[in-house]
Amino acid sequence: MEKRGSLLVISGFSGVGKGTVAKKLVEKYGYSLSISATTRQPREGEVDGREYFFKTVDDFKNLIDYNGFIEYARYVDNYYGTPRKFVEDELAAGHNVILEIEVQGAFNIKKQYEDALLIFITAPSAAAIKERLVGRGTESEEVINKRLNRAKEESEDMDKYDYIVINDQVEDCADRIHAIVQAKECLLGNNLKFIEA
Ligand code: 5GP
Repeated sequence: MEKRGSLLVISGFSGVGKGTVAKKLVEKYGYSLSISATTRQPREGEVDGREYFFKTVDDFKNLIDYNGFIEYARYVDNYYGTPRKFVEDELAAGHNVILEIEVQGAFNIKKQYEDALLIFITAPSAAAIKERLVGRGTESEEVINKRLNRAKEESEDMDKYDYIVINDQVEDCADRIHAIVQAKECLLGNNLKFIEA
């Protein structure tokens, strides 16, 4: 029997650096990172097909109708969705897959993939989140405030995640997450079916 990959869902407040942590998991540990589709405008330096597949609202809605997403959600005036095919192909090939998505999407995934591991990344302090959001200079003040409000709402759902990891230092944070994934893979029952009697 082929062993399926693990599905790792990473969420966290806007500006917490979860994208950088996800990239570290790809580089250092070989995770496959799912690229989402979105209707938001590309930020400077973002490339279609690398950070996101940038879509019009009509194209996005067509993909919803064709069952092209395993989940999608609205976040601060835009749609975001996880393309189905990549995730299912990678898991079937035995690769560990990361979804870097917000909380509604994470809970939606957990309903469909009960083995998915949900990890919430947080910053060492609330001030650190605001500093990062303002400091990266990619959003207007209005959008920053909307994202900070959304962070407050999301903090109410944080305790429904399997683990909360603080991103004090990117590599340490990625190492801790990988250790959690490995521990979960060793849970009794997960491996038992692969051990010859
Ligand atoms: P950003 O605009 O900063 O790139 O992303 C905004 C939020 O959307 C982040 O919390 C990010 O994790 C989330 N997000 C990105 N892709 C997806 C997706 O495919 N589905 C869901 N539900 N959220 C996503």
